[in-house]
Amino acid sequence: MNIEENVPLAPLTTLGVGGRARFFVNARDLPEVEEGVAFARAQKLPLFVLGGGSNIVVSDSGWNGLVLQIGVTGIEESEREGKALFDVGAGVDWDRFVAHCVSRGCAGVECMSGIPGSVGGTPVQNVGAYGQEVSETIVSVLAYDLAENQVRELRAAECGFKYRASIFNAGQRGRYIILRVSYALDPGGKPALRYADLQKYFAGRDGTPSGAEVRDAVRKIRASKGMLITPGDPDSRSAGSFFKNPVLSESQYAELVRRAAEKDLQVPSYPALSLHRKLSAAWLVENSGFKKGYTRGNTGISSKHALAIVNRGGATAAAIIALKNEIQERVERAWGICLEPEPLFVGF
Ligand SMILES: Cc1cc2nc3c(=O)[nH]c(=O)nc-3n(C[C@H](O)[C@H](O)[C@H](O)COP(=O)(O)OP(=O)(O)OC[C@H]3O[C@@H](n4cnc5c(N)ncnc54)[C@H](O)[C@@H]3O)c2cc1C
Repeated sequence: MNIEENVPLAPLTTLGVGGRARFFVNARDLPEVEEGVAFARAQKLPLFVLGGGSNIVVSDSGWNGLVLQIGVTGIEESEREGKALFDVGAGVDWDRFVAHCVSRGCAGVECMSGIPGSVGGTPVQNVGAYGQEVSETIVSVLAYDLAENQVRELRAAECGFKYRASIFNAGQRGRYIILRVSYALDPGGKPALRYADLQKYFAGRDGTPSGAEVRDAVRKIRASKGMLITPGDPDSRSAGSFFKNPVLSESQYAELVRRAAEKDLQVPSYPALSLHRKLSAAWLVENSGFKKGYTRGNTGISSKHALAIVNRGGATAAAIIALKNEIQERVERAWGICLEPEPLFVGF
C-alpha cells in the first residue's frame, strides 16, 4: 500500500475545487482497504472513501485525514436463471461498464450511459437517469463493514434504495466501504425508452433501437445538456445536478400551484416526475430569477442546464457554496420550497 501525503483533491473531482488530503491511498484490493483503515485508526484520522469524485464538493481546507480511493478492478461474468450476472470492482469506471454490457447485448443499464464516476459510487445514491435506476438491476453489494470489521454481502433489499438514496448515504452512512457490485441484466433484452427525451429522439423510426443506439442517443442528449464530461466543455465542470427534485406533499403542491398562478405561471407536469409527486428542481431554479448561464465570479449555472453549478475556472469551494446558498434562498423565498443538495460536502 502506498500512502501519499498532501495530495490535491480538486483534480480528483469533476467540479475541480477544494484543498488537499493530508493522507491519500488508492486501495486496489481488500487487503489494501484493510491496511488503509488500520492506518487511519492507528493515527486517529477521519476516513473519507472516494470513488470518481463526481458527486462531491471538497472544502478549500481539504480533508485533514485519510482519503481512501477505491481502485478495485475487474468485471466477472456468469449466468443464472436466464440473467447475465456481472460482478464488478468498485473502482471500475461506470460508463466503461455500461459500454461493456451494451456490447454484450445486455439490457438494464443503457439509459445510464455517460454518468461519470465509479461502479462503487452507483449504489450510494441509487444512481439513475432517463427512467432507469441501478436499484432495478443491482443484485448485491459486497462491502467492508467498518462497524463489524468484516466483509459483508448486502442483498439489494438490504440496501434501502429510494430516489437518490440508500443506506450508504442515509441511515448507515460511513459504515460500508463498497468493494464490488453485482448486477443482473437481460441478455438480448429490449432497451428502455421510458423518457420523453429519448422517445422524441427515436420518434418516427421503425422498430426498436438497439442498446448501442440508445447508449449513443443518451450520450448525445447528455452532451447537449452539459451532463457528459467532455474535455473543452466548460459546462461539464460540475458535480452534475446540484439539487434533487423535491418530492411534495399534497399541501405543498397546492401552495406551489397557488404561487404559480399569482405569477401567471403553470407548474410543469412531466409524467416521469409526477408519478412520484416530484417537481422539477430546474423549473424552480429558472423561475426564481436564475437563467442558464448565470455567472457569479468564477462560478455560475451551466449555460445548458439550470441545475448544474459550474466552476468557470479557478473557483473556490467557498464560492460554489455561496452560489448554492443564493439559489436555495431565492427558491425558498419565491416558492416556499427548500432545495436539497445532491452532492456530498467533504471537509466542511
Ligand atoms: C456531469 C455529471 C452528470 C451526472 N449525472 C448523473 C445522473 O444522471 N444521475 C445520477 O444519479 N448522478 C449523476 N451524477 C452524479 C454522480 O456521477 C453519481 O452520483 C456517481 O455515481 C458518483 O460516483 P463517484 O464514484 O464519482 O462517487 P464520489 O463522488 O467519489 O463519491 C460520492 C459519494 O459516494 C461515496 N462512495 C464512492 N465510492 C464509494 C465506495 N466504493 N464505497 C463507499 N462509498 C463510496 C463517497 O464517500 C461519497 O459519499 C452526475 C455527475 C456529473 C459530474
